Formats: sequence, C-alpha cells, structure tokens
Amino acid sequence: MGGNKTFTMIKPDAVKKNAIGAILKMINDGGFRIVAMKYTKLAQSEAGAFYEVHKERPFYGELVDFMSSGPIVAAILEKDNAVEDYRKLIGATNPADAADGTIRKLYATSIGENAVHGADSDENAAREGAFFFSERDMH
Ligand code: ATP
Ligand code: MG
Repeated sequence: MGGNKTFTMIKPDAVKKNAIGAILKMINDGGFRIVAMKYTKLAQSEAGAFYEVHKERPFYGELVDFMSSGPIVAAILEKDNAVEDYRKLIGATNPADAADGTIRKLYATSIGENAVHGADSDENAAREGAFFFSERDMH
C-alpha cells in the first residue's frame, strides 16, 4: 500500500464549467480529507516547470498553454493509499476511456482538457504539493 497523501489540481476547463464544488464533493465523498487548498492561476513558465517531466511529449506545448489558460484549484489530499485510490476516482486520462462515475467521465471534455490532475506516485505527490504549498499551508 502507498502513502497517505496525493496532490490534485482542478484544471481550467472544469473551473470554467463551474464544477469546482461538484468535484470537491466527489473528493470528500470518496473519503479524501483536504490538507491544503488554493485557488490560483499558473503563469506559462510555472505550468512549463510543473509539467517538465512531459517536456519531450508531443502535447507538451498544448498542455502548458491549457494549464495556464485560466484559474485552477490546487490541493493536497489525505487518505490511506491516496495516490492509487485518487487515480481510480478521477478515471482514465482520456474521458472516452474513463469508467462511469469517475470525475473525468463526468466533467472532462477531451484527453487534453480532462478536468483534473492526479499525482502518479508518492514521490511526485510530495514534489507537486511542495510546488504550491509550504508547511504552514498544510493542516
Ligand atoms: P495528469 O498527470 O494530469 O493527472 P495523467 O497522469 O492521466 O494526467 P499524463 O500522461 O500524465 O496523464 O498526461 C498529463 C496531461 O497531459 C493529461 O492529463 C492531459 O491533460 C495531457 N495529455 C496527455 N496525453 C495527451 C494527448 N495525447 N493529447 C493532448 N493532451 C494530452
Ligand atoms: Mg500524470
């Protein structure tokens, strides 16, 4: 079993759809506790740095433009086995493949504009959380 924290963002498409409240409810109903949370907007350079791991992927430019196109909600979430369980709650990257009842099935538009981000490992969850939050923001 993995660690007890993960990192998420509600992406600009879901914020524009006014789905922040509905998604936070799914997160809470899924058994996750909010440890830190922020409504903010990434500069293009910040989105580029956040997604540095995808630099060589063909969609990197599109991803960076999209993630800096509007406000987002960033949050650290707590639950047993957080990373894996949260990936289950959000569903597959492409909403066409996402299981019924998942956040992406309900709120994503496309493979690029897919409503939420979820960290893919304990190590990345810690790194991504530290990108947005200091110790004094975590409760
Ligand atoms: P995330 O990291 O946002 O939780 P993920 O882990 O399911 O998503 P990754 O492979 O890490 O998927 O891709 C990161 C993000 O890049 C995706 O969420 C999506 O927004 C975008 N992306 C991935 N594949 C494509 C693609 N083929 N075309 C356009 N955008 C894509
Ligand atoms: Mg990923």
